[in-house]
Amino acid sequence: GREIYWKRSNGFTQELAQLADTAGLMVVGTTYQKLASPNPRTYIGSGKVAEIKSAIHALDVETVIFDDELSPGQLRNLEKAFGGDVRVCDRTALILDIFNQRAATHEAALQVALAQMEYQLPRLTKCGLILSAKQEARLKEWERNKLKWTSVFYLTQIGGLKKELESVRKHRKQYRSRRLSVPVPVVSLVGYTNAGKSTLLNQLTGANVLAEDRLFATLDPTTRRVQMKNGKDFLLTDTVGFIQKLPTALVAAFRATLEEISESSLLVHVVDISHPLAQQQIDAVDKVLSELDVSSIPKLMVWNKVDKVSEPKKIKLEADQRGDVVCVSALNGNGLIDFCDAVQEKLKDSMVWVEALIP
Ligand code: GDP
Repeated sequence: GREIYWKRSNGFTQELAQLADTAGLMVVGTTYQKLASPNPRTYIGSGKVAEIKSAIHALDVETVIFDDELSPGQLRNLEKAFGGDVRVCDRTALILDIFNQRAATHEAALQVALAQMEYQLPRLTKCGLILSAKQEARLKEWERNKLKWTSVFYLTQIGGLKKELESVRKHRKQYRSRRLSVPVPVVSLVGYTNAGKSTLLNQLTGANVLAEDRLFATLDPTTRRVQMKNGKDFLLTDTVGFIQKLPTALVAAFRATLEEISESSLLVHVVDISHPLAQQQIDAVDKVLSELDVSSIPKLMVWNKVDKVSEPKKIKLEADQRGDVVCVSALNGNGLIDFCDAVQEKLKDSMVWVEALIP
């Protein structure tokens, strides 16, 4: 079970827990602390450090993630304070992990690797070497040398990555993924993290709502073939979700992971319509989409989690008035047939058939 045993949470820790889940980690607890200003040595206060330390032992914790970016010094002090093999990381490192897992194109992988190395470089002393006090004293000289050479290695790698990225951009076409010759339209899900994209993807895969007894082929962890009774199948692919407070250093990497959507036949914008900031999230997603080269791709909006809103009838009416909006509950399966119908209608309109991606 994915129970959270130890919990003191707010909106931020909930979102962080969601991100950790997306990265494939099991969240066993969350906590937060209100401080006038962060502790320069350990970010949180000493009482909180002790509380987390005892939770680490009680729950056999391997990783502690902080929502804000930690300074290299804070990272080291926290790792020391928690002791053992506990890994301390911050929001930026976690997001980079997710991007790394999700980078589908060569260019995206390079962009993410570059962001990762640039992030790690100033933190090398601390994270690369976890030593006891005794070892640390003995190996100080060795460490200094190692650090010097590791830094040189990183700088060389960073330079190499930058060059490679440049050349990939120049010859983008050569690096495109291998294609399948069967023409199946690709439909990409975009939207905020937590909007319900993967739930939607999984519902359309697992349930027998749309086609009896036919297994849905899994192409890669984030792409599924949705098989329709009328034979007009389409590929549904999940993208890395939008994240609130995306550190600026990661914007380029995020956009690179999104670039693959420029090859889809249809963009489905999934919205958590029960979220108090739903409209702001819609605007933020639209803004980024307008900056990518996707204006010619048809779009469909999905208002998800209608089971959670207080006035579903009103929401449904609003959706009808806006047009190009389908209301669904990915969780309980409501509206999924409507969703597939709307996708087919849109694909018919656009008449764009691109070749299917194979992993
Ligand atoms: P993603 O980050 O966009 O892929 O979002 P997920 O699919 O992981 O969903 C985030 C959370 O919202 C999960 O806890 C889901 O169970 C929940 N969720 C997704 N769809 C619905 C829905 O239609 N109704 C409700 N009530 N919860 C949902």
